Amino acid sequence: MKKLVCVDCWRRDNLTFKQRLDPAYVTPGPAHRCALHGAIRDELRKGPESTPQAA
Ligand SMILES: [Zn+2]
Repeated sequence: MKKLVCVDCWRRDNLTFKQRLDPAYVTPGPAHRCALHGAIRDELRKGPESTPQAA
């Protein structure tokens, strides 16, 4: 099984602040997010894309 890595955690750990703002580093398509970042995401944009994460 492929281990899912929260993209926001990955970006925080692997990219500089400037890189994080660069659209080139944004992961396309549905991305896995940990509970923390998933909750933040839900607060930012409540919509069809904010699907609950099954742990
Ligand atoms: Zn995260």
